[in-house]
Amino acid sequence: MNYCMKCEHVFEGESECPFCGSKKVRAPQNEDLCFLTEKGSMWSEMLSDVLMQNGVKFLKRGNLGAGLATMVGRVLESDRFYVTYEDYAAACEIVSELFSGESGEPVENADETEA
Ligand SMILES: [Zn+2]
Repeated sequence: MNYCMKCEHVFEGESECPFCGSKKVRAPQNEDLCFLTEKGSMWSEMLSDVLMQNGVKFLKRGNLGAGLATMVGRVLESDRFYVTYEDYAAACEIVSELFSGESGEPVENADETEA
């Protein structure tokens, strides 16, 4: 795993960041703050709750400045979530479980009750 010091993404096996093209990458340290995901305000609150329930410490940054967000309202706002590298794998799992049905087919129960 590599960590981009510029945009704070974690990625696998590249010598430059696939997200911003920066070559300022290094091996991630446990205390590094890593970009997790970006979610609109509705999902953002749900994700915050679940991360807290799982004991994952996270940092939320709005994509708009605080003043601007108040002006345009919460609807247009989205939050970027950052977690420490220590919690990154667990947090990724939570996100993929939580949002697995968001794009593509909804997750269906495998157990069938047909006779
Ligand atoms: Zn980057």
